Amino acid sequence: MELRKLLRLSLLSVFDVCHERCRFDFSRAVYTSGRLKLFKCLMSSKCLFDCRYCYNPWHRGEMLTPREYAKAFFLLKEKGLVDSVFISSGIYSDPEKVMDDIIEAGRLIRKNFSGYMHLKIIPGAGRDQIREAAEIANRISINAEVARESMLDEVCSVKSKLDIKRRANWIAREAKKHGISHTTQIVVGLGENDQDVLSFMEKWYGRGVSRIYFSPFRPLKGTPYENRKRESKKRIVNLYRADWLIRKYGVDISKLKAVAGERFDCDPKVLLALNFGIEELKDIPGIGFKAAKLMNNDLRNINSTGIVRLKKMGFNVKKISAFLPGQKRLSEWI
Ligand code: SF4
Repeated sequence: MELRKLLRLSLLSVFDVCHERCRFDFSRAVYTSGRLKLFKCLMSSKCLFDCRYCYNPWHRGEMLTPREYAKAFFLLKEKGLVDSVFISSGIYSDPEKVMDDIIEAGRLIRKNFSGYMHLKIIPGAGRDQIREAAEIANRISINAEVARESMLDEVCSVKSKLDIKRRANWIAREAKKHGISHTTQIVVGLGENDQDVLSFMEKWYGRGVSRIYFSPFRPLKGTPYENRKRESKKRIVNLYRADWLIRKYGVDISKLKAVAGERFDCDPKVLLALNFGIEELKDIPGIGFKAAKLMNNDLRNINSTGIVRLKKMGFNVKKISAFLPGQKRLSEWI
């Protein structure tokens, strides 16, 4: 197997987000995502679609067969370099054929591997194929691509919002039936604002999706969008913070919409505290569930002694201090 090809296909899979902290480890040529050492590699970088931000359709691509893909995975696994796999691909043929190949690679791997497997569902995949993928994977996902549905035609002439939505509903049903998770991702920085992103989250979390990932737009040479502006890291960080507040703190999306404006200009939790006040300890920016528990979930414990205690325990208290009694804002609330 040509190692350079494997490396190129792995590098190009960077646009398929599996976790906000997923990073490519150049020394080992694999991705690390939390505790996972992930074999995240495209089956093919050839693509007949025409997503205008994507590298693949505008460059000569290359591909692996399902057998080669599985072989590469086991080779790296034997060396202890990977312990999990995420299979995705460009659409090098008709979508059903591509989905069949992804499933076949998954099956070949599954025969001798019981660890984490994530399979990408291709727009145009059949319902039976989604069921088959759900039977062998731990997670399946389809890319929704854009936050504002009306932007999809402008970004890609082939993908249809109806097609994606229909598949997302099938995926939700199969994922539930098989007790696995399903996720989606959008590219952020294509002209949508944070209100669009929040509305998107409202709809897709309502559809039962377990996670939404944000792929920051990067202008790539040789693509129709090569002269557009790169999306800032700060925006992505704030969107993930908002996502965390929705999923973990149960914050109502309408509250986030009320404070977001066109774009969050700082940490959404700070904006919520300033606009809606603080009712519980966990509402204080800088305090999470862990610190709140250590303070016995009692707002009165957030005094200078409490803060010193948290600092000694290794918490970053910079944000919390801004909300200390004596500082006008917090003293008004407790
Ligand atoms: S479907 Fe679109 S995003 Fe995916 S590889 Fe093809 S052009 Fe790129």
